[in-house]
Amino acid sequence: MIFASDRFVLPLPPGHRFPMAKYARLRERVARVAAHLLREPDAATDAELARVHDAGYVDAVARGTLDARAQRRIGFRWSAAMAERSRRSAGATLAACRSALACGTGVTLAGGTHHAHRSHGEGYCVFNDAAVATRAMQAEGRARRVLVVDLDVHQGDGTAAIFAGDPDVVTLSVHGRQNFPFRKEASTIDIELDDGTGDDPYLATLAAALPRAIDRARPDLAIYLAGADPYAGDRLGRLALTKAGLADRDRCVLDRLSAQGIPVAIAMAGGYADDIDDIVDIHFATVALALERAGALAPMARAVAPA
Ligand SMILES: [Zn+2]
Repeated sequence: MIFASDRFVLPLPPGHRFPMAKYARLRERVARVAAHLLREPDAATDAELARVHDAGYVDAVARGTLDARAQRRIGFRWSAAMAERSRRSAGATLAACRSALACGTGVTLAGGTHHAHRSHGEGYCVFNDAAVATRAMQAEGRARRVLVVDLDVHQGDGTAAIFAGDPDVVTLSVHGRQNFPFRKEASTIDIELDDGTGDDPYLATLAAALPRAIDRARPDLAIYLAGADPYAGDRLGRLALTKAGLADRDRCVLDRLSAQGIPVAIAMAGGYADDIDDIVDIHFATVALALERAGALAPMARAVAPA
């Protein structure tokens, strides 16, 4: 199943650099090849959010009592729509995890809000969807051990901090050394890359790190943050991967997980290329590959689908 929450739009001022339009465009493109798999997720509940976040923070987001500093740190002004979108986005990742555990693969066309910490949001992230989904799967008895494979170009600092010291959750983050967040947290495994890293060194590094992470985690479930922001054309990424390199990255992750029979929920995470179509191309390729691997989409569908 593929969960899309783009109907819940976050109102942004003109010129804001968050690419809100990518979500609807991605859903439209996915609908051309897999409309029958698209679902709208439920919102994550207070109880689901409170397994990860301080109740006071959940309440402040719900009631609109975040102060100006907290809103600046998130990068969005509070609105009722912002609160609802954040809940739906977390709910989509949660639903994608349930789907993964039921049939091997689940996808959310949003998610990857990995800078959200227990008691504050940051960097366009309000609630930490991967953490909320992990705790939900554990609470529901669907999974105990979880591996988070975070290949967004920015470190998954919120996720790392939330799961620090938890032996049941392994976090792997492959990210730019010089990039946001400038104060990094300790993931279980952190791989830091220099500015300008291209396809070959990236893929070699990933191929070495993934088996280590899988061995360490022995997971019942993996959550893969397939950020589009390691792309060479990304405004915030500072790395130099091509679209082909990003597709190889996705293949590497999905192959390694499926070889060991590990269900995977895939979230899109960041992407800030100037041309939104580039971001959508990268995310769509990830989704199409996941569908192919799940037997839900013939390889040809990618070639014949109008771009
Ligand atoms: Zn990012």
